[in-house]
Amino acid sequence: MSKDPENIGQVMRVAASFGARFELTPDGPLSADSIPARPKGKKLKPVAGDFVRARPLRGEKDWQIEEVLERASALDRTDTRGRRELLAANVSMMAIVLAPQPQPDLFIADRYLAAAELMPCKAAIVWNKSDIAPPDAELEDYRALGYDVVNVSTKNTDGIDALREIMRGELSILVGQSGVGKSTIVNTLSGGDIQRTGSVSGANLEGRHTTVSARLIMLDTDIQVIDSPGVRDYAPGLIEPRAVAQGFREIHSAAAGCRFADCMHRAEPDCEVKARVSSGEISDRRYRSYLRLAQINRQLGADRY
Ligand code: GDP
Repeated sequence: MSKDPENIGQVMRVAASFGARFELTPDGPLSADSIPARPKGKKLKPVAGDFVRARPLRGEKDWQIEEVLERASALDRTDTRGRRELLAANVSMMAIVLAPQPQPDLFIADRYLAAAELMPCKAAIVWNKSDIAPPDAELEDYRALGYDVVNVSTKNTDGIDALREIMRGELSILVGQSGVGKSTIVNTLSGGDIQRTGSVSGANLEGRHTTVSARLIMLDTDIQVIDSPGVRDYAPGLIEPRAVAQGFREIHSAAAGCRFADCMHRAEPDCEVKARVSSGEISDRRYRSYLRLAQINRQLGADRY
């Protein structure tokens, strides 16, 4: 605790957001000791995971959030009206969950990986339901690129400890197609006692039943995840076509060798990326993913770029 929070404010973490109200803690996860707070003005828009400067309000239970500190990363998505919506801040690990069922789509995995590279945050591939089938051989490509790849099963708990180690010290999100087992994994990691409502902070919120829009959950010592409906449904948004290559680390690093600085690695001469695809150094499948994602973003964003 700072000596004089009344004057300089105190740095706290946003543990949960309930629309316009927030719960703060010194270290993150929502608990019975969380402090209710509201922002000083409408322009301040904190989200779960943010570090903020806040101070107590005289004669009130609420603290006032005075400043949102600089974010290391921002997880956002574009809503149906094309506006950017911030889902969480300072996420440092994206765990991309795949499984034998529903059928894996590695293009979607590449798309998430690209979003993680651009946020930026670390990323790992989680092959869940390994009790049903071993992972696709193609997942080895991700390991070769330096991503952690872990096989897990919530049925027999294989790999769960390895996943814990990947998530330790991070603020993580689990992403992937519906049905791959994201909720089950979070429950397994937590020992099965996750509450998805705002009831934990019911007392602090003066008994009002407010729906939590996002919260930070402590799964184990030093393992935190963001749980929110938005994150559960998260799908990466538009990427500026020229930035797509940055989402593919092997393409991004090869691009330095292209003749043209603005090479899009399509039909340009002396393209180092295409040379490495021909030699097999860059996987043809990943290259096709890159072309497809660049194409989609060009089409969707045709009026913007
Ligand atoms: P989500 O939509 O990604 O959150 O997926 P859920 O957590 O709701 O899980 C979808 C289904 O997969 C449920 O029926 C789970 O019981 C099942 N499931 C989750 N993990 C495993 C696993 O490791 N092995 C098997 N066989 N089934 C699993």
